[in-house]
Amino acid sequence: MRILVVEDDRDLNRQLVRALSDAGYAVDSSFDGEDGYFLGDTEPYDLVVLDIGLPKMDGISVLEQWRRSERNMPVIILTARDRWSDKVAGMDAGADDYVAKPFHMEELLARVRAQVRRASGHARNEIECGPIRLDTKSARVTCDGEPIKLTSHEYRLLAYLMHHHGRVVSRTELVEHLYEQDFDRDSNTIEVFIGRLRKKLPPELIQTVRGLGYRLSADPDAV
Ligand code: CA
Repeated sequence: MRILVVEDDRDLNRQLVRALSDAGYAVDSSFDGEDGYFLGDTEPYDLVVLDIGLPKMDGISVLEQWRRSERNMPVIILTARDRWSDKVAGMDAGADDYVAKPFHMEELLARVRAQVRRASGHARNEIECGPIRLDTKSARVTCDGEPIKLTSHEYRLLAYLMHHHGRVVSRTELVEHLYEQDFDRDSNTIEVFIGRLRKKLPPELIQTVRGLGYRLSADPDAV
């Protein structure tokens, strides 16, 4: 899952990037409205954390323009605590949720999890596929109740496949949703990580769909 943070306060931006990265997301960051708008318009993010008060272009305008051009990713806006009108304007401009500053990082992370799982059609924090269970809150994975140890890249890959289980996911889609913008994107690495995951999971769980990509499914005969 890949997230964009648009926040001009350098300290807060850095804290957000660190907390979200630690939680298992690939994170890009931007410090003004123009750059943030461009990234959100051209890259396929799974969620955006968007400050309202931004230099060059304010957050409400950024959001309105994304929505006008059918950029439908979940957006959580950051508002000043005493500016209730920003919350209203933000929600009306197409925000999915808001957090008022100052906030506890745990609250923001919970709201991010909720939006990401809702966007992929999951109501609960725990996502199951056959014997595999992914707890998005603790970032833990179990197979038949036994914990599976994953590296952070393996976790990112499995978390994306779990959020979209049952559907064919192309290599390009995986590369675009698992890595930061400046990451050296070599789609061969996806195959390497798929191979590693297959060794840690029941091997038939991740199917290769020739010419299209991969599908995580508990039903080996599913088409
Ligand atoms: Ca600001």
